Amino acid sequence: MKILIVNAGSSSLKYQVIDMEGEQVLAKGVVERINIEGSQLKHTMGKEKFEIKQPIKDHVEATQLVLATLQDETMGVIKSVDEIGAVGHRVLHGGTEFSESVIINDAVKAAIRKCIPLGPLHNPANLMGIEACEKVMPTTPQIAVFDTAFHQTMPAKAYMYGVPKKYHDEMGVRRYGFHGTSHRYVSKRVCEFMGIPQEGTRVIICHLGNGSSLSACVDGKCVDTSMGLTPLEGLLMGTRCGSCDPAVVQFIANNEKMTPDQVLDMMNKKSGLLGISGTSSDMRDIDAAADEGNENAELARQMLVYGIQKYIGSYAAAMGGVDMIVFTAGIGENNGKLRERVMANFEYLGAKLDPAKNAACADGKATECVISTDDSKVKILVIPTNEEIMIARDTLELVSK
Ligand code: ADP
Repeated sequence: MKILIVNAGSSSLKYQVIDMEGEQVLAKGVVERINIEGSQLKHTMGKEKFEIKQPIKDHVEATQLVLATLQDETMGVIKSVDEIGAVGHRVLHGGTEFSESVIINDAVKAAIRKCIPLGPLHNPANLMGIEACEKVMPTTPQIAVFDTAFHQTMPAKAYMYGVPKKYHDEMGVRRYGFHGTSHRYVSKRVCEFMGIPQEGTRVIICHLGNGSSLSACVDGKCVDTSMGLTPLEGLLMGTRCGSCDPAVVQFIANNEKMTPDQVLDMMNKKSGLLGISGTSSDMRDIDAAADEGNENAELARQMLVYGIQKYIGSYAAAMGGVDMIVFTAGIGENNGKLRERVMANFEYLGAKLDPAKNAACADGKATECVISTDDSKVKILVIPTNEEIMIARDTLELVSK
C-alpha cells in the first residue's frame, strides 16, 4: 500500500509518499507560502528536484497541486489517486484525549478542535490539512498521529505543575510533551538495533533540533519529558528560551510595556540560541562563531550543553539509573562535538564516549551507531529519527485492522 503523509502548517504543507512494501519513500516535498505572495511547491522524486511557482490560495488548492504533481508524467509516482491507500496526518496536540493514533471521523476532528487552545498555531493548520484531504480524496481513510500521544504514560507527579489543581482539572493545565512520534520511534528502534526487548530498559532520548526535547523512557514508555503545556518549556532551543522563572514574563512586560502575549512571542521566536548569541538560531552558525571567539555564541553553546547535562542527570535520578542515552534530530545526529561536550562529565554515571566512534558518526554521515566505549556501562548511541515512517506504520496498522 502507498501512504501519503501530511504535515500541515498555517502556510505550508509538507508531504511524503511511502510505499509500505519495503518502506520506500517514493516522493516528498513541501508547499510553501500558502495564501502569501510567492507560493510554490518544492518536490523531490529520487534525486530529481522540481519547483512549481504559482498562486496557491488555501490548503485545498495545495493538496490538489500535490496530488496533481504526484500523478504527473515526469514528476509523479502514482497513476491515480486511488493508489493512495490512506493518509497519515501529523497533529500537534491531542491533549489527554489521544494516547495513540486514530482513524479520523467527526468526533476526532471535534476533539482536535477542542485542543486548539492548547496548540493555537498548529491544531487549526492540522485541521485545515485534514479537511483539505477529505475534500480532495473523500473516500480515502485519514489517520491522525499526535505529537503528544507518546507522553500520555507519564505519571501525574511528572506532568503536574504546582499551581492550584483546579487549573489542571478545569482547563487541562499540565505538561503534555511534544516530539512524541520521534521519541516513540527512537525508543523502540534503539532496542531493535541493540537486539534487546524494551522491557527492562531505562533510556534517555535527546531529540536536539531546532526545537529540542528530552524524554525518559522505562520499558519503552515515557515517564518524563522536558517540553510542557507548550513546546516552550525545557531546553534552550533555536529561538525558544526554554524553562525560566515565569516571573520573567511579568518583569519584562512591565519594564518594556509589552503584553504577556508579546513577551511569549519573543520567548518563542527571538530567544534561545538566537537571542543569546545575537547571530543565528542554527547550531552550525553558533559553533562557527564560538570557535572564532564570539563570546555570546560561546555562552549560547555552553547554556545548551549545560541544559542537556542537567536533564540527563535528573532523568537518570528519576529512573534510578540509565542504560542507554540516545542522540537524535539535526543537532543530535550531526553535531559530534556537541555530543562530546555533553558527555564529558558522565563517567561517574558509567557513560564513556568513544571519541573516534563519535566523530565517525557526524556531519551528515549519521547512521545508527553506538558511540560509547566497549567498557561503557551506559551505552551511548546515535539513532536518526524518522517520524514519517512512524506515521506511515500507524496509518497502515489502523487501516489494516
Ligand atoms: P527541526 O526541529 O526544524 O526539524 P532539525 O532536526 O533539522 O530541525 O535540526 C536543525 C538543527 O540541526 C540546526 O541547528 C542545525 O545546525 C543542525 N544540523 C542539521 N544538519 C546538520 C549537519 N549536517 N551538520 C551539523 N548540524 C546540522
